[in-house]
Amino acid sequence: MSVLVYTENWDGKFKKSSFELVSYASKVAEMLNSAVTALSIGKVDTAELEKLGKYGAKNIISVVHDSLTTLDNQAYTKVIADIVRKINAKIVIMSFNNTGKAIAPRLSVNLTAGIAPGVSRLPLSINPFIVYKRAYSGNAFAHLLIETEIKIITLAQNSFELIESPVSPTIENMQVDIDQGLVKTQLKDVQKQTGKVLLTDAEIVVSGGRGMKSPDNWGPLVELANLLGGATACSRPVSDEGWRPHEEHTGQTGKIIAPNLYMAFGISGATQHLAGVSSSKYIVAVNTDKDAPIFEAAQYGIVGDALKILPKLVEAVKELKTR
Ligand SMILES: Cc1cc2nc3c(=O)[nH]c(=O)nc-3n(C[C@H](O)[C@H](O)[C@H](O)COP(=O)(O)OP(=O)(O)OC[C@H]3O[C@@H](n4cnc5c(N)ncnc54)[C@H](O)[C@@H]3O)c2cc1C
Repeated sequence: MSVLVYTENWDGKFKKSSFELVSYASKVAEMLNSAVTALSIGKVDTAELEKLGKYGAKNIISVVHDSLTTLDNQAYTKVIADIVRKINAKIVIMSFNNTGKAIAPRLSVNLTAGIAPGVSRLPLSINPFIVYKRAYSGNAFAHLLIETEIKIITLAQNSFELIESPVSPTIENMQVDIDQGLVKTQLKDVQKQTGKVLLTDAEIVVSGGRGMKSPDNWGPLVELANLLGGATACSRPVSDEGWRPHEEHTGQTGKIIAPNLYMAFGISGATQHLAGVSSSKYIVAVNTDKDAPIFEAAQYGIVGDALKILPKLVEAVKELKTR
């Protein structure tokens, strides 16, 4: 049973999430006594591809094609499915990000493969193949049994640590045939956000809820996030009100994140919000209501006014940084 992991690159560079995927795939392969093949689509130079070997990718397949410069769900699905068949992979692993959410279900249909979406742990057993995942907005867990010959796992971002198990990888540049009828996506324009830590990549997230009272009060929260090298987030009502952009909304209907530290200011901790943040390693909550449900999810809490505490935290972090 060989394992194929799809690793995304951004402008020819892999991000931490790709290395996390390879670390995870290597551990799954270890359970199977098998090896990991990493698939990269798009132009990535040899030195960058070799970095996948540090996390255990023994074989690397690199596919470069003019029709695959922009992510096209159908074309990418076809390429990945063909490669799964070609190398006889039995387990396919990809990220539970927007790309994985678009491609994995298509792949599941194409390969008649069972799929476990948004997994955050290694399979519980290989034979039978059982995977643990959170269910019902994190209020329950499920053991998924996959009985199909090929199995697909999408891994929740930030849920698996980087594990180095260096190998010297073999890189194969694979030629693929693209059915132009499948390529429906054209890239018209790119607007890049520079200097901003992506919410799904961030190790520290500073987040605000309706308890922040007004969009005008966000200054110290943003400053704290910047000082800590983190990203900003918010609860859904905050983005619904237009206080913060929608891409910052975390929860059941927003982004699902798992940073090392999630700081929640003026957030009640509704189930739907916690569904997106409860996998964080540490949650720190600041709330005026000592009975707010967020304190049940948090390891550290301050009962107090976020608007008074935030500027003090900013000053404290600034002072620490001068030491
Ligand atoms: C189908 C569905 C999906 C949903 N999806 C999401 C989702 O994805 N994400 C999400 O966030 N919500 C979601 N919600 C909404 C969710 O149920 C809650 O209403 C929402 O999370 C509450 O946001 P909040 O904590 O910012 O606001 P509130 O519930 O109004 O809480 C504000 C908190 O701030 C505290 N507070 C007030 N003043 C201060 C102060 N000065 N300092 C410190 N604390 C203060 C209060 O004690 C209170 O606990 C969803 C709801 C439904 C029905």
